[in-house]
Amino acid sequence: MKLTVLGCYGPFPPGGGACSGYLLQESDFNLLIDCGNGVLSRLQEHLDYQKLDAVILSHLHPDHVSDIMIMRYGLVIALKEGLRSKPLQLYAPTEPVSEFDRLPYKDCYEVKALQEGVSLQIGPFSIQNRLGLHAIPSMALRINSREGTLVYSGDTEYNRSLEKLAGDADLFLCEANYQDQDLQKGLPNHLSASQAAKLAAGAGAKRLLLTHHHPEKDQAVSLVEAKKYYPEAELACEGEKYIIQRRNSS
Ligand SMILES: [Zn+2]
Ligand SMILES: [Zn+2]
Repeated sequence: MKLTVLGCYGPFPPGGGACSGYLLQESDFNLLIDCGNGVLSRLQEHLDYQKLDAVILSHLHPDHVSDIMIMRYGLVIALKEGLRSKPLQLYAPTEPVSEFDRLPYKDCYEVKALQEGVSLQIGPFSIQNRLGLHAIPSMALRINSREGTLVYSGDTEYNRSLEKLAGDADLFLCEANYQDQDLQKGLPNHLSASQAAKLAAGAGAKRLLLTHHHPEKDQAVSLVEAKKYYPEAELACEGEKYIIQRRNSS
């Protein structure tokens, strides 16, 4: 299972950066997880976007969705010219309804509901979800295959159900939008780097990748805060590839 980080910033990117987007590939199946602004451009540095098999959106905030509104123009042409034979499967939470209703476009997407607690099989991936604590419904995803397990937090405040979902994950890709000082101010909706690290340690995750970096914060500070609780914590890096393989706990 190969994960390519296409964009790892939120709620907006720095110059030259992109918001949330992660390409997950196994056995010639190409799954895109989130599709924020800048992701379609980045994707094409690794894969022809017409070769995507499915997209799954953790939630319907624009920093996770906005390039879906752009990719459709290419897909419509590809379908018309026979470069694609079928619509792109697009899984997303159904709320807010007004945002969900904006997803379909001229039959280029086959939009499917991502329902809380309902497992899915998408290509080689078995996917479970848990609802996070966020301004709108946001799903954490546990993606299993023959090769390993990736858990992705989506956007969320601290919650123990995420720790449970991330149990023994080979790679835990966890948002860390905040730093300790943000929590002291009582900012809602996101995790700090130290909270992400505590969750990873509690879950026994084999590897922790911090993501959803805030573009105006020093990521070195986030990393220091995370390493107090999970010494091997790493920062997700745009363009980097990560091989996910099942590892033994011992
Ligand atoms: Zn976000
Ligand atoms: Zn969000």
